Amino acid sequence: MPVRMGGPADPETFVRHPHAPLAALARIVPPLCILAACAPTPAPVPPVAAPTPTPTTVAPPTVVVLPPAGPTGPVELCGRGTVQRTGDGRLFNHFPYPDMPASALIDAPTTLGGSCKVHPAMAGDLYRLLAAADADPAIAGTLRAVSCHRSEALQRQTFCGGIGVNGSGSFAERAWASAPPGHSEHSTGYVIDFGTSTSTACNAEACFAATPAGRWLRTNAAKFGFEMSFPAGNKQQVKWEPWHWRWVGTTPNEAGAAPARSIFLQARTRFPAEPKVD
Ligand SMILES: [Zn+2]
Repeated sequence: MPVRMGGPADPETFVRHPHAPLAALARIVPPLCILAACAPTPAPVPPVAAPTPTPTTVAPPTVVVLPPAGPTGPVELCGRGTVQRTGDGRLFNHFPYPDMPASALIDAPTTLGGSCKVHPAMAGDLYRLLAAADADPAIAGTLRAVSCHRSEALQRQTFCGGIGVNGSGSFAERAWASAPPGHSEHSTGYVIDFGTSTSTACNAEACFAATPAGRWLRTNAAKFGFEMSFPAGNKQQVKWEPWHWRWVGTTPNEAGAAPARSIFLQARTRFPAEPKVD
């Protein structure tokens, strides 16, 4: 929590924040009075611009353990009745995933546009991926994030609100393109739906794969620990999503990678990503 320093001399500020007393003291006693009787005020020193922070500087990854996935067994869905999971815990082909609390997430880089929260463990790799993308003239400055963390509540709105739209009349039809609440990889915070600023009509559409951004991700994303969860023709029977990339770390030993790989273990084992991270 930053210390508020904007007010006039405030003894209360001095008392409440013992580690930030100098500014408060300076407001009460002119600096030269501390050492000697009050001398004439020295000429003001021109302000010195603060150094610009290096945008690629990233704090060490934070390992945050997700809460357990929701209860197993029959699930009430969209106020339309109860549905059964399959024996492996899936609901309409989607594995159950826990919902990362918003307080544990961080803002994605602003260059991705919009408001986007992600798991802190991916920050280092994400910044490196963006730096590499920006160094490639074919896509420099064009990568965007269409969607990142989605809470279970938002996923409920997304899934249930899409029932009966565009031919998605049943849960199974809807689940082809959207995970039921409690079953979206997005709720973990480890996923980004990437888009492009140059072909926005292709964002979250199959044609994204053919955009420069889509092609670049296919070639390079795995180098930074991102893999395509739902490749074309996947046996999980989920719609091909060339924009949907989950972070699992470049190696199992990378900080924060183990919890991510544990969360996605079933999906990665049974329905491998393509491109995938080893
Ligand atoms: Zn997605």
